[in-house]
Amino acid sequence: MLRACFRNAHPLVVASRSARLNAFGFRACSTHAASYTTTRNDTPDKAYTHTKPRAHTNSKTNLKMGKNNKKKAAPPPESLFHIVHPSSSSSSRAIVDTHTHLASTFEAYRHKYPSGQYTTVYDFVKGLYAPAGVEAMVDVWCEAPVRPIWKEFADAALANEQRAEKWGGVEYWFVMGVHPHEARLYDDAVEADILEAMTHPRCVGWGEIGLDYHYDNSPRPVQQAVFARQLKHAVRLGKPLTIHTREADEDTERILKEEVPREHRIHIHCFTDSPAFAQRLLDWFPNLYIGITGVITYTSNTDTSTAVRNMFPSLPSPSTSTSTATNGASEDEDKKLRILLETDAPYMVPAPIYTSAPFVDGEGKGKKLPLCHSGMVPWTAEFVAGLLTPSPSSASASASGSEAATLQEGAEAPSKAAATTQGENGGGAEKEARGGWDAARVMRVARANARVVYGV
Ligand SMILES: [Zn+2]
Ligand SMILES: [Zn+2]
Repeated sequence: MLRACFRNAHPLVVASRSARLNAFGFRACSTHAASYTTTRNDTPDKAYTHTKPRAHTNSKTNLKMGKNNKKKAAPPPESLFHIVHPSSSSSSRAIVDTHTHLASTFEAYRHKYPSGQYTTVYDFVKGLYAPAGVEAMVDVWCEAPVRPIWKEFADAALANEQRAEKWGGVEYWFVMGVHPHEARLYDDAVEADILEAMTHPRCVGWGEIGLDYHYDNSPRPVQQAVFARQLKHAVRLGKPLTIHTREADEDTERILKEEVPREHRIHIHCFTDSPAFAQRLLDWFPNLYIGITGVITYTSNTDTSTAVRNMFPSLPSPSTSTSTATNGASEDEDKKLRILLETDAPYMVPAPIYTSAPFVDGEGKGKKLPLCHSGMVPWTAEFVAGLLTPSPSSASASASGSEAATLQEGAEAPSKAAATTQGENGGGAEKEARGGWDAARVMRVARANARVVYGV
């Protein structure tokens, strides 16, 4: 749902210091340069804010970044990105990130770490994603006009040997479409490029497309027309859909029901809207899944958690639960969890990562990560498991995550709350497994769902 604007980038180029900006294609983007802030009508005091990595700063953003316009703090050590969740490993390859903006993520990394150890997107994936246990990713191209570099990424994933050599064995897949923000730039030429990309063997869907009435970066009638037009093509081609919808519940639902057969495979990515809306979509489309990003872990966002919990009507509400009731580990229970795990990287770091040892008393103490990557999916899975396993410890895990989440905006230390649950909750899969849900099981189910939707 969020992406950098960098149409001219060539990520395989090693930039010299003087040429860096051009080589990596950073440019100001009027539609995305501001901080990412969602203010909910029902919780106006709890906006969640993500500061978008940006290439060009200006006085306005500097003012937003820190008090008194003081100099930005240096980013935390690059080594912190190598953190691996106990539920994953390079050998288990448990992670499937079903929605990520890889080129943006790599460029954000290069921007934050101009002298960083990874100078190509391939080395970045080999060095960070593969060791973290990433089996597969669905990369998202949603700019207009289409960026030609997509083909180089995709071609590098065609053969087994190439995938091993270039991508470290990570299965690279992609979807393509035009984001609602840029709907006004959609034209026949863009459409022709997308249609060409749809024939690539590594293309697994059409997206992200949809409606975004939060920003209204394109006029709403244009967004709707472009959404419908892309849906018609995707349906005709039998391509799974990646949908971006934000504060546009009624129109998104109406257009989807008008244009898309009920059996079609659909991913409502980075869901943050009303739980009732999610339920209506789930009820109507049997092959529709809700995309869960790190945003579910943020204090200001309770809708996503509620939408997930509503998939299990027998769960007691968090406020009344004092028992340790769990769901059985049956396949029927697994089928209820109609989610896909995603990062929507580079921006939304799952907050519970700050309960991990390096951030509690290691080199990450007092730091926050400036970007997210696919290896962080397990912390989101762990949070989801906590939602489905109501118990005192899951409640404290949520509290800890929430506290850490408030730090997304600031640059100060997450150590206080993190330290309180590290011993209890940071110890890995075996501790989480209480006959119910744990991070590993959530990832297994989501992995199976990714196969249903995208065939990956
Ligand atoms: Zn989106
Ligand atoms: Zn996205």
